[in-house]
Amino acid sequence: MRVHAYAAPSPSEPLAPTIIERRDVGPNDVLIEIKYAGICHSDIHTVRGDWGPRPYPLVPGHEIVGIVAEVGSEVTRHQVGDRVGVGCMVNACRDCVNCRNGDEQYCRGGMVATYGGVDRDGTITQGGYATHVVVDADFVLSVPEGIDFAAAAPLLCAGITTYSPLRRWGAGPGKKVAVVGLGGLGHLAVKIAHALGAEVTVLSQSLKKQEDGLRLGADHYHATSDPGTFTRLAGRFDLIINTVSAPIDVDAHLGLLAVDGTLVNVGAPAEPLALNVFSLIGARRSYAGSMIGGIRETQQMLDFCAEHHIGADVELISADKINDAYDRVLASDVRYRFVIDAATLG
Ligand SMILES: [Zn+2]
Ligand SMILES: [Zn+2]
Repeated sequence: MRVHAYAAPSPSEPLAPTIIERRDVGPNDVLIEIKYAGICHSDIHTVRGDWGPRPYPLVPGHEIVGIVAEVGSEVTRHQVGDRVGVGCMVNACRDCVNCRNGDEQYCRGGMVATYGGVDRDGTITQGGYATHVVVDADFVLSVPEGIDFAAAAPLLCAGITTYSPLRRWGAGPGKKVAVVGLGGLGHLAVKIAHALGAEVTVLSQSLKKQEDGLRLGADHYHATSDPGTFTRLAGRFDLIINTVSAPIDVDAHLGLLAVDGTLVNVGAPAEPLALNVFSLIGARRSYAGSMIGGIRETQQMLDFCAEHHIGADVELISADKINDAYDRVLASDVRYRFVIDAATLG
């Protein structure tokens, strides 16, 4: 099947309209008519080669929602007409210890990324900036009616990336959670942590987005450019989710944690970070990382977000604005996620 898409021809050229081939619908496959695709910061890093060489042309996009158009003969969990979503992975070995534990994102054989990955049939995956995609049914999520469809797309990457560590490290009533950075990831971290019942603080470079932060559900908002923030809030938080992909002062942020507190990086700076181990041992603190979530947990996240009416704050764009949107994402000029209307791709 030949479908309309937007692809990067090389790491240095803008994305342009193209036609790509989708595989035939196999027995366990789902054909999805894509409605919306979010623009994730990692799309930009990946197509520009920041995270290593990739095959080109490359169609990015791993925040996909759409309607099931066809199912293979063995598919039982999805039906034609269903609202579905696809996130950052489209396959995994399903047999290793991590897959068996529902952590397919940490598959020991390597999860298959939604774009620029080698699928288990040997083909190169192409992502969601397209009108259709064919995905193994086991990696297709159900998107409940309770979430606006365009606002649901960013949940498939940004939503699960923040939901998973918030749940794992116990964000909830009586817990003080800080979110570092109020961007695509951060704004969803605030909404989800608030819905989980935690006391939420935003730590942002400036107070520019304070009004937004409080509207999204934060109880407090502090500027990290003010050194006083780090003395006033010392030892305060049970959990800090760092969504910033630029280097931060790790020791200063660890100092904000209470005894047994954890700082979790979900943003991924390219450069190594320095850290003084005394920042950890002085209060039995942990420094951790987390990457998206497994399929089962991603479904839990979508169900949770539907129940609490959580979607991303989105700016809907047509396909011809993708390159402008990339520039604006890099300039942090988006509140808080660009979503492509797939109807404009054809
Ligand atoms: Zn992403
Ligand atoms: Zn595996």
